Amino acid sequence: MRRSFKFLLRPTRHQEIALAACLEDHRTLYNAALEHRRTAYRKAGVTIRYGDQSADLKHIRADDTGGQGRWSFSSQQATLRRLDRAFRAFFDRVKAGRTPGFPRFKGRGRFDTVEWPRDGDGCRWDSQPEHPTAAFVRLQGVGHVRVHRHRPVKGRVKTIGVKREGDRWYVVLSCDDVSAEPLPATGTAVGIDMGVASLVTTSGGEHVANPRHLAATADRLADAQRALARKKRGSTRRRKAVARVAALHGKVRRQRLDHGHKAVFALVRTYDVIVHEDLRIANMTRSASGTLTQPGRNVAAKSGLNRSILDAGWGVFLTILSYKAESAGRELIAVNPAHTSRTCAACGHRAAENRLTQAEFACTACGHTAHADVNAAVNILRAGLALRRAARAV
Ligand SMILES: [Zn+2]
Repeated sequence: MRRSFKFLLRPTRHQEIALAACLEDHRTLYNAALEHRRTAYRKAGVTIRYGDQSADLKHIRADDTGGQGRWSFSSQQATLRRLDRAFRAFFDRVKAGRTPGFPRFKGRGRFDTVEWPRDGDGCRWDSQPEHPTAAFVRLQGVGHVRVHRHRPVKGRVKTIGVKREGDRWYVVLSCDDVSAEPLPATGTAVGIDMGVASLVTTSGGEHVANPRHLAATADRLADAQRALARKKRGSTRRRKAVARVAALHGKVRRQRLDHGHKAVFALVRTYDVIVHEDLRIANMTRSASGTLTQPGRNVAAKSGLNRSILDAGWGVFLTILSYKAESAGRELIAVNPAHTSRTCAACGHRAAENRLTQAEFACTACGHTAHADVNAAVNILRAGLALRRAARAV
């Protein structure tokens, strides 16, 4: 199976300048290739393809040895492929009858990743294995950059990426052949309901709250964005405000990941079978039934941003859950969440009136009462186990 590992880089001042130049040159390349495609298409109706642009790359490098020529040919090809994907997606949407926006130029701050498609080609993971204490990654044109490797890397390193987040730099390794580490079976199954007041509620009645500090950071981020909107374009104050917004975005991301890992770890350790809502369907039904516009009382409804940050936690949580479950040999089942919140888990009676408030469920038929999220989680578990039985019967 495939896994990715992300580590903080500790570049020297000199390397940091080289990293910034590397990123900037890849951005320039991306924009130039986009310009080329746009002009050819608009003026002559000619479609430029990846193969054409990759062939041009040789000349660009030869003409600019101190600039574009410094970096890895392969990482530049990866950048051109990225543009190619943007165009394919654009044409797919056109074909589907929609009117998508044309692929856009990447401004500073909108281009934050360079990828090397193969370890050993313009880059080398663990480039100084003889070093007694530290790990390094070698990047063409940058040098051996020190890595804060806070956990061991497993499997075989396939691609290496460098990412800028605010004023930090990270290396992202994508590894193949990562072996599973199954956990002992526990013989138990759980259903989980994902919400706003609680990130996760289990069918057993446990609530994993969205952390307070995440909501606090979200508030600060909202403030920082308002402050940014007041600053004059091109001013030093504006530049500082942009940096502050970026730093807070990074903080939200780290807090969400950290919290997601903890929540997932507890579930995967305890249960063999985990049933969750299919998020794509869940998002639609939630907004249709108005749940998103009426968050629980515990959540400060300070702004749409705050809520969207808490919501985005579901995606992160499910991503972590899916790879942890696979690695631990747990079974993960996604179910259609339709009606799970208004159906009685005790008698099956389905009515909108069953749901008294955001938090309370009281069945109008049998009188069963429960926390609304727990009731939903029990229904989710039941739906998952039914799917599982049906699959086994085939
Ligand atoms: Zn009932």
